[in-house]
Amino acid sequence: MSRIATLLETLAPIGRNEQGGYDRFAWTDADAALRAWFLTEAADLGLPTEVDRNGNLWAHWRQRSGAALVLGSHLDSVPNGGALDGPLGVASAFAAIRALQEAGETPDTTVSVVAMVDEEGGRFGIACLGSRLMTGALDPERARALVDRDGVRLDTAMRAAGLDPSTLGADPDRLAGIAAFVELHVEQGHLPVEHRAAGTEPDPGHRGLAEAGAPLGAASAIWPHGRWRIELHGQANHAGTTPMADRDDPVVRAADVVLAARHAAVAEDALATVGRIEVRPGAVNAIAASTTLWLDVRGADEGRIRRVVAAVAAQAGAEPVEESWTPPTRFSAPLTQRLRDVVRETGAPEPPVLPSGAGHDAGILAAAGVPAAMLLVRNPTGISHAPEESADLPDIEAGVAALARLLRA
Ligand SMILES: [Zn+2]
Repeated sequence: MSRIATLLETLAPIGRNEQGGYDRFAWTDADAALRAWFLTEAADLGLPTEVDRNGNLWAHWRQRSGAALVLGSHLDSVPNGGALDGPLGVASAFAAIRALQEAGETPDTTVSVVAMVDEEGGRFGIACLGSRLMTGALDPERARALVDRDGVRLDTAMRAAGLDPSTLGADPDRLAGIAAFVELHVEQGHLPVEHRAAGTEPDPGHRGLAEAGAPLGAASAIWPHGRWRIELHGQANHAGTTPMADRDDPVVRAADVVLAARHAAVAEDALATVGRIEVRPGAVNAIAASTTLWLDVRGADEGRIRRVVAAVAAQAGAEPVEESWTPPTRFSAPLTQRLRDVVRETGAPEPPVLPSGAGHDAGILAAAGVPAAMLLVRNPTGISHAPEESADLPDIEAGVAALARLLRA
């Protein structure tokens, strides 16, 4: 069995739920097991490790002094997520280093592996938490005060996991020590052909790697995207005694808002999703007092996104609260070219370049001026953030071979 297959197999049971998906949230027992896995593999490779001020995990193969070529991704998941989004990038980084070590080869630069904290925001609602804190894009005071669904604050959760939340914040020295960041990631956003939009550049996944017959690809850019919270208030009342005409039902208004988001997104060729709704007090036999909706909008440009949010605001009669905003990000063209070259040098088919509708730590670092690029591994189901997310082992091994080639070069 290849090393990457073994690594993925040891990860497979961690955080797995009864539906076969993964619940791997920051600062939980599953997260602790994933971090222990990281430390074990690094120790096995003889790599010293450290935890940075924001809780991100690092392993270093220091062959030379100077800035490092950093490989990695994240280990956390969305609720009921897939096995590969995140862990594939960390495991293949370790596997690539092992390939060089076993061949008795040493790279010309320091090579580091990183596992960024809470990339999905599955617990505290803000995506790319570890990289946003590191680059200073997220205020540490705001981060410490974030609460999960059970009302647990992020700083409390960190302390319970044995880390010190008082050190959270921008880490410019560490950022300056990254010569380049390469994130290998399972392909996401493979949309059916009929959803293709007109335009010069394909929309994310519209020419997925499966359609192109290519096991590997590279990401050109990340679409701008944001998250908004919408509060709707009504009048709580008895389900059996309140005539339909007299109701002020915030759940019905929430339904209108969800539909408005969908219609506006279709009109703008954007993507809008309401994936979380809270209804209070949540009784079957009572009209609700209030609802909260979380809206995720992405698009090829900011104008489309802002118009979708404006349409939602008009329908809601309330101003959506912006919880996060990420401007468009272009990856480093020279580094992306280098990645495509090494893929070709390993004998794999020509790697297509696709824009990404999904946010990534590599995008946050790129926005902060770090040369960053992404290597995508074909996802035959096209499904991500769900248990069906998958990649074939030969494609994954091709990704590891490309990373190893990059380290050699
Ligand atoms: Zn990811």
